[in-house]
Amino acid sequence: MLTLSHALSSILAASLPNRCTLCQQPLARGAGLCDVCLADGALGQVCLHCHRPLVIAPPHRCGSCLTRKRWRPVVSAFHYHGPIGPCVARIKAQGQPQLVNPLAKILASRIRAYHDQGHLPLPQALVPVPTHASRLQQLGFNPAWLVARALSRELTLPLLDQLVVKARPTRLQHQLDGQARRDNLREAFSLAGEGEGQQVALVDDIITTGSTLKTVTRTLDQAGVRVTQFWTLASALNRR
Ligand SMILES: [Zn+2]
Ligand SMILES: [Zn+2]
Repeated sequence: MLTLSHALSSILAASLPNRCTLCQQPLARGAGLCDVCLADGALGQVCLHCHRPLVIAPPHRCGSCLTRKRWRPVVSAFHYHGPIGPCVARIKAQGQPQLVNPLAKILASRIRAYHDQGHLPLPQALVPVPTHASRLQQLGFNPAWLVARALSRELTLPLLDQLVVKARPTRLQHQLDGQARRDNLREAFSLAGEGEGQQVALVDDIITTGSTLKTVTRTLDQAGVRVTQFWTLASALNRR
């Protein structure tokens, strides 16, 4: 009986687009996620390098990261291992690009808050982590590009999506560890445009170890494009 009522409520929920994707509660407007679910999965006050929780912020770095001379802020909106994580995963796992905009709005307001409080400057432009043409054909869209486009609209920043391309397909990074991740990404990206002197934020849907973002950063560096921040919807960072 429980199974039947569960099945019925799933069918009902699927037929009512104006319900929260996660908890099925009615939404005041639009589609996507309700405010309660969004707040529930939010990252909160974290160190902008390792994403460990902070009791007091600012400063936006924890004790062990404060002494780092070279670091790059990573701004994310949600815990990948929290309630919103499965929604972020569904964007590419189930081909649900409509989930990008409500999630990116939250990320944009977080970036705006850091900027308005004087903690982070805004970059001059946004660069999405590129995907290979074969993957693009398979999925129909690049999640990182959708996130970057949504942020570019929210924050009125130019989108530079022709600077770097993915030159060859790679295996999924989360299936690999350490050296295998680095080998997988070797010469995977190449320069395709000019943007010398630009300071940009590099955008992706999820950050896990950060190796993809770092590899694209090195490629952009060769063109004189400086990546000053990483922006991702979700974070699974667990830096030591
Ligand atoms: Zn909800
Ligand atoms: Zn830290």
